[in-house]
Amino acid sequence: MQAKHSFKFYLLIIFSFYSLTAVQAKAVEPYVILVSFDGFRWDYPDRGITPNLDFFKVNGVKALSFKPAFPSKTFPNHLSIITGMYPENHGIIQNEFEDPFENTSYGISDTVSVRDAKWYQGEAFWETAERQGIKTASFFWPGSEVTLSYRHPTYYKKYEHDLDYGKRIDGVIDWLKLPYNERPHFLTMYFHETDSKGHRFGTTGIEINNAIHLLDSLVGHLYKRLKDINMADSVDIILLSDHGMTNLDKERKINIESLLDIKCKIIGFGPVMMIEPPKQKVEEVYLELKKSANHFRVFKKNEVPEYLHFSKNPLISSIVVVADLGWVLYDNSSEKIIKRYSFGGDHGYDNSEIDMHGIFYAIGPHFKKNFLTGTLNNIDVYPLLSKIFGIQPRNNIDGKLERIEFILNK
Ligand code: AMP
Ligand code: ZN
Ligand code: ZN
Repeated sequence: MQAKHSFKFYLLIIFSFYSLTAVQAKAVEPYVILVSFDGFRWDYPDRGITPNLDFFKVNGVKALSFKPAFPSKTFPNHLSIITGMYPENHGIIQNEFEDPFENTSYGISDTVSVRDAKWYQGEAFWETAERQGIKTASFFWPGSEVTLSYRHPTYYKKYEHDLDYGKRIDGVIDWLKLPYNERPHFLTMYFHETDSKGHRFGTTGIEINNAIHLLDSLVGHLYKRLKDINMADSVDIILLSDHGMTNLDKERKINIESLLDIKCKIIGFGPVMMIEPPKQKVEEVYLELKKSANHFRVFKKNEVPEYLHFSKNPLISSIVVVADLGWVLYDNSSEKIIKRYSFGGDHGYDNSEIDMHGIFYAIGPHFKKNFLTGTLNNIDVYPLLSKIFGIQPRNNIDGKLERIEFILNK
């Protein structure tokens, strides 16, 4: 009798403990908003015009800079952030590129290609999360619009460049106000202002400073709206940028095609160019370019320096040309575009150039407070997110949790 009684008693204890921890587990379920400020250079916060970023710094984590992947362009890097992979592995090797095997092309303004899942070889964090029971949402992020239902977030918006920034914040707040069972826990946002103004006007002057100030005030507005719905203390905000920006100069441009005697297929213009010579002519074209490599570097695909991580993908062409910082490469077909170029600023260059680095801030219950750290790598965000949500990351990524987890609270 005695033994039976205590068995029931123990069962009761175990049951109450289990339900208590289940409730607790729900209560600490993370919310993360990942915010991207396109082209927000690492040192813009030093201009004294970003009070909201200063608030993030004191109350959260700030990195000295945030290192993009090469090429330091928008789509390759948003995909690196969200998949934890280098562009050569996630497949979005440029904003525009071609697949010579299938005779198709990818381009950021070609919505059909942008929504075609075949180009995206990495697994975005929203896929990893949804598979493990976490609802996700995206108010814009490159790659979030793929048409395959199991590869996009539960909630997402089709990209509208001119959509009012305030409406994007309203949309995220509305998602967070959904009933618990429908509410997303991981959300992304994107703002282009500093990229557009940086291209047009360069990295100094009133226009870029207004853009910097505007984005700073938007993050303040987001934080206030989170306060209004009593979520400011339970949401982590990771605020980062995809790359930096450097000033151009009309005089610093090179027509690569004019240096070649052999007709080649030339893909892209600006800081990086890919060149596909006729078969058997790769060595000849390479030597020709190498001979006149002034203000740019030329590499055969398998000789691209290891640190750039830009050789493995089959869609990278036989020759890769990388301009020196601030120089612009073009060919005859892009000459007209170059003539209309504003020569304000650009990005895409070697990712070890500090001008190409962006910002990284993180604030919220999972992050240390008033914690300054050195440069972080953007491929490490995916494993960081997996850690915060306590889910299993893909094991084929390039990012490493060990390089970033020290910014989390114990
Ligand atoms: P970049 O040429 O690298 O400076 O690319 C920046 C441009 O990417 C911005 O001006 C945006 O219009 C565009 N962009 C950003 N996100 C998206 C998206 N999700 N879909 C299509 N275009 C985008
Ligand atoms: Zn960008
Ligand atoms: Zn840009």
